[in-house]
Amino acid sequence: MFTELEQTLRQRLDEGLYRRRQVLEGPQSVEVTVNGRQLINFCGNDYLGLASHPVVVEAMQRGAARYGVGGGASHLVCGHMTPHHSLEEELADFVGRERALLFSTGYQANLGVLGVLCRRGNWVAEDRLNHASLLDGARLAGARLKRYPHGDVGELARWMAQHQGVSVIATDAVFSMDGDMAPLGELARLARERGTWLYVDDAHGFGVLGRQGRGTLDLLGLGQSQVPAYMATLGKAMGVFGAFVAGPQPLIENLIQQARTYIFTTALPPAVAEACRASLRLLQEEDWRLVHLRKLIHRFRSGAASLGLPLMPSDTPIQPIVIGDNQKTLEISRKLWKRGLWIAAIRPPTVPVGSARLRITLSAAHSEAQLDRLLEALAGVL
Ligand code: PMP
Repeated sequence: MFTELEQTLRQRLDEGLYRRRQVLEGPQSVEVTVNGRQLINFCGNDYLGLASHPVVVEAMQRGAARYGVGGGASHLVCGHMTPHHSLEEELADFVGRERALLFSTGYQANLGVLGVLCRRGNWVAEDRLNHASLLDGARLAGARLKRYPHGDVGELARWMAQHQGVSVIATDAVFSMDGDMAPLGELARLARERGTWLYVDDAHGFGVLGRQGRGTLDLLGLGQSQVPAYMATLGKAMGVFGAFVAGPQPLIENLIQQARTYIFTTALPPAVAEACRASLRLLQEEDWRLVHLRKLIHRFRSGAASLGLPLMPSDTPIQPIVIGDNQKTLEISRKLWKRGLWIAAIRPPTVPVGSARLRITLSAAHSEAQLDRLLEALAGVL
C-alpha cells in the first residue's frame, strides 16, 4: 500500500515533477522573506499589490471586529451577511451585469456553474489550455468534454456544426499559464449563432484589464448579451480571496437554487468580503496602479526582446518564458533564486508535457529597478 505511494513520489522526483512548498515568513508582496532570506517575487498573482495593502488589511480587521470571523453557515441557511450582499451588488455594478453571486473560491465557482448549465451527457467545449477547474467542472457535471485547439474558433465551429447537444463553450479570458487572451468576440458570435452558453473565466483579467480593471470583457466591449456568464476571482488582482459569477437574473437565481458548490459550503468570512469591498474601492479611486503595471509590461517585453528571450504573445502581467524540459526549468529557477529572484518552475500537469516554463508575473508593486534586475538575471541564466 505505502510502497506504491513511495514509488509514485520517487517517480515524480525522477521526472522533475516533485513539488515543494516554500514558507513565506511575512506578508504576500513583491518582496518576501523565505528562510530568513529576502527575495523579489515574480511569480504571484497579486497583480496590483493589494494583498498586504494597509487599507485592505484595515478593512478586514474592522470587518472582523464588526461581523466576527466566521460565516457560520452556508449562504442559504444563515451565513449570508450584509458584507456579502453589498459586495455582490457592487461587483455586479462594476462589471455591468444584472446580478453577481459570491463563491468561496474560483474553483468552486467553475464547478458550480458548469454543473448548472450543462445537462448530463451533453457536450461542453473548452479551450485546450483552460484552467483545471473548468475541465473538472465539465467532468463532474457528467458532460462529454471537447477540448478544441488553443484559440481556434474555426476548428470549434467546424466541430460544432457536426455535433448536437453542446450546452456550453467555456474559456479562460486570459490564459493563466500563457498570458494571452481568448478570441472572445468570435466565441461570442459562435455561441449566439449556435444557441450555446458562453462562460468566461476572467481570473487573470479582472482588476487588470479594461476601465479601472473592470476586466477582459470590458476591454473588448462585450456586454451581458454577448457573454451571459462571467466569472472572476478575488484572490488575484483584488488581493484577497473568493470569486464571483455575474450575469442575468435567471442565471444567478438558478445558481443559488442549484449550484452544489454554492449550496453545500460555508459562506466566506464576512471580513473577507469587507476586504474585497475595500480593494474594489481602491480600483475605482486610484488608477495609477494600472498605468504603472502597463508601463512595466512594456518595459519587460522590450527589454526581453532586446536580450533575444523567447516571449509569448501576451500583453498581460503574465509573461512566461517556456523552457520545455522539467529538470532544466527547475535548474534555471534555482539559479534565479540564488540571485534573489523567485520565479517558480511551472511543470505538467499545470502546463502541457514538454512546455515547462518560468511563469513570470509582474505586479504594480514592482519598481522599474526590480524589473531591470530581473532582466539582468534572466540574461545571466538563460
Ligand atoms: N480559474 C483560473 C483561470 C485560475 O487561474 C484560477 C486560480 N489559479 C482559478 C480559476 C481558481 O480560482 P481560486 O484560486 O479562487 O480557486
